[in-house]
Amino acid sequence: MATPTCYSTKAFSTSSAKSPLAPATIQRREPGASDVQIEILYCGVCHSDLHFARDEWHFTQYPAVPGHEIVGRVTKVGSGVTKFKVGDSVGVGCLVDSCRTCADCQNGLEQFCAGMVMTYGGMEKQLNAPTLGGYAQSIVVTEEFVLRMPANLDLAAAAPLLCAGITTYSPMKHWKVGAGQKVGIVGLGGLGHMGVKFARAFGAHVVLFTTSPNKVEDAKRLGAHEVVVSKDEKQMAAHAGSFDFILDAVSAEHDINAYMNLLKRDGNLVLVGAPEKPLPVAAFPLLFRRRSLSGSLIGGLPETQEMLDFCGQHNITSDVEMIRMDQINEAYERMLKSDVKYRFVIDMASLK
Ligand code: NAP
Ligand code: ZN
Ligand code: ZN
Repeated sequence: MATPTCYSTKAFSTSSAKSPLAPATIQRREPGASDVQIEILYCGVCHSDLHFARDEWHFTQYPAVPGHEIVGRVTKVGSGVTKFKVGDSVGVGCLVDSCRTCADCQNGLEQFCAGMVMTYGGMEKQLNAPTLGGYAQSIVVTEEFVLRMPANLDLAAAAPLLCAGITTYSPMKHWKVGAGQKVGIVGLGGLGHMGVKFARAFGAHVVLFTTSPNKVEDAKRLGAHEVVVSKDEKQMAAHAGSFDFILDAVSAEHDINAYMNLLKRDGNLVLVGAPEKPLPVAAFPLLFRRRSLSGSLIGGLPETQEMLDFCGQHNITSDVEMIRMDQINEAYERMLKSDVKYRFVIDMASLK
């Protein structure tokens, strides 16, 4: 395959785990026959961006450009593109390619494909270079990995659906969260607040666990029926053995055994948070009552489109705080202090 020609676009990148993000010019491939070129209007700020920029998962190649909650407008399409035209409102999430032939791809579970290409931190086959994410003015993505944004949703508030949305929607669908169930969400950050909204929309009784007493009222406004301040042992004990399903969206080390004890017989705790260090698991809370501990990774392309359409129908978006691109380093520091209400979104016009 001949290497495509490239064009320059403005971005914010980081050159090492200890460097701040700073202005940079990066190269994107000129759109090929099946490619869509997108002017990025907004990009959400996921805690994964921070883990990746600081190499907390130990696979980052520098210079690195994070960002995988991308929304924008189509500016150019390749000759073979059939799903999109110039001017369409589109989204790109955590994936930009996969092998397209394995059983996972055939089943619309591209996130589990051994050949999946992440939006950042992956390998762009066309350029034989690391993929660079959405903290940039434009991106080029093959049309199969581009999503259609519902027309009625505010684009900036919908950006976080591309990761925080699908990551919480997918496990709840897989394990059939619904009416008559008691569901716990741990951590009221970007993922957690979407988890509360979906669990509520699916008809469950929703309990939010937080370490931040100042988030109690917000959690109720977002849809939680009950809120537990997790540092309070008495409040925790009151819920022992009562949950069908708990979604753990915490970004740092914490005691998951305290949550295992809150599950019913055959209850399931699903980890979506991805802390840098392993979490110790005690045997007894798992053994007694035959509880399960599971994990879940974002979602495939068909389910991501399904989630976006569901959000369009039910008017679900993220609660966002808009920032300029040059406020990203400060935003990361606030994210580390759990001071996000409830997702930062970068206004990419600030990069011009
Ligand atoms: P976030 O907005 O920073 O939220 C994380 C929340 O966790 C905080 O707001 C806080 O909530 C709680 N928290 C933070 N430190 C804590 C600690 N030491 N002990 C207990 N609770 C703590 O992060 P996010 O963007 O939602 O991402 C959450 C995690 O999910 C990250 O690790 C991210 O990499 C991962 N992730 C995974 C997937 C996937 O596919 N599985 C996809 C996206 C993100 P309270 O103030 O309410 O306690
Ligand atoms: Zn993410
Ligand atoms: Zn595959």
